[in-house]
Amino acid sequence: MSKIKIAELFYSIQGEGRYMGVPSVFLRTFGCNFKCAGFGMSKGEASQEVEAIAARIHEFTKYEELPLVSTGCDSYASWDPRFKDLSPMLTSDAIAERIMEILPFNKWQDEHLVITGGEPLLGWQRAYPDLLDHPAMKSLREITFETNGTQKLTPEFKEYLIKWGLKERGYHKLTFSVSAKLSCSGEERHEAIRPDIIREYEEVGYTYLKFVIATEADAEEALETLDIYRAEGFGGPCYLMPVGGVESVYTLNNRRVAELAMKNGLRYSDRLQVPLFKNEWGT
Ligand code: SF4
Repeated sequence: MSKIKIAELFYSIQGEGRYMGVPSVFLRTFGCNFKCAGFGMSKGEASQEVEAIAARIHEFTKYEELPLVSTGCDSYASWDPRFKDLSPMLTSDAIAERIMEILPFNKWQDEHLVITGGEPLLGWQRAYPDLLDHPAMKSLREITFETNGTQKLTPEFKEYLIKWGLKERGYHKLTFSVSAKLSCSGEERHEAIRPDIIREYEEVGYTYLKFVIATEADAEEALETLDIYRAEGFGGPCYLMPVGGVESVYTLNNRRVAELAMKNGLRYSDRLQVPLFKNEWGT
């Protein structure tokens, strides 16, 4: 039976993108190919907040106890190896059982499944079919992969997803929410911007881009980057979403980013988990 290293598994409201407001189960896998040493820090700088948390790692036994950070990647513990012991390796049976426990009526109704990270399309692609074929997942109708858009689908997983999408559920029930990283993330552009990869996602499911931004310069970069994706044939929608893993940063940015989205004819994505739940772990 397949196993997945799970950083978090929780029930909440999707705060971002296409399914904003939809009750959702979040399966946060462990591991990421990026570090995003940007987002409010000089490029490449280690987050002093994360360093301070890592220095007292022995004090934390679960995600809910971890402090939030205002700079860098807000889900740092889902990929930083120093936090790996907080993420158990669970079998498909254990994951499916836990999902049934946290769903409000212990079965799938209108909830959707968000597979997120870290980067959920790393090696775990090989394990998802086992989980999605589990009897407890039979009435699940919609899935979103929240990805940074840099990971190719393996031929086996691509074939599986195409069948899953067609099987009783309709092709559009599968979504790829691609948060492509602009320079404010601190990642290298040639590694972060991969139109070839998301063209492949479009063959399999509904795919959109979501750029996390703060300033007018970020918005300009988002537009230029969108042009690159469009030139390669990307046809899906594009969202602008404010930087802000903590409320003080989010509130500085949300209105400005909404206005930049309107000005440029793009969609605005909120991050509802911040005003609603302060972006605490498990929300
Ligand atoms: S790609 Fe996402 S999960 Fe990975 S480091 Fe960047 S913000 Fe964090």
